[in-house]
Amino acid sequence: MAPTGQWYGRTFAGGMRGSKQIALTYDDGPNDPHTMKLLDVLAKHGVRATFFMIGHYVQQRPDIARAVAQAGHVVGNHTFTHPLLIFKSAEQTRTELVKCRSALQDAIGEHSNLFRPPFGGRRPATLRVARSLGWRR
Ligand SMILES: [Zn+2]
Repeated sequence: MAPTGQWYGRTFAGGMRGSKQIALTYDDGPNDPHTMKLLDVLAKHGVRATFFMIGHYVQQRPDIARAVAQAGHVVGNHTFTHPLLIFKSAEQTRTELVKCRSALQDAIGEHSNLFRPPFGGRRPATLRVARSLGWRR
């Protein structure tokens, strides 16, 4: 459950030491009206961010997902229904990742190969499934 923990496999949890750059990331969208309001704020300040989206919401609002991608932000996979993956079987985890990837593909086409487990919850089987689907690190 610790997002920065590396016990169950290597996961990205930060940048270069001493760097003054930060990465802005937003989870759980797309949501109406919050995501579009956020896009306005980011555009106003000329900032790009990464949006980890829930596939079920992407299916409901593909227009918002497209707006995020068209604004130049990175879009990543945050599962289809946002479950706590430590309690899911390998097959359930695979389904969550594949369905979200498919929803993103349908809505925006090519997108990043980034995956963020809901709540930071993962275990070795979670990462094995992610690796088997092409996610690395
Ligand atoms: Zn989340």
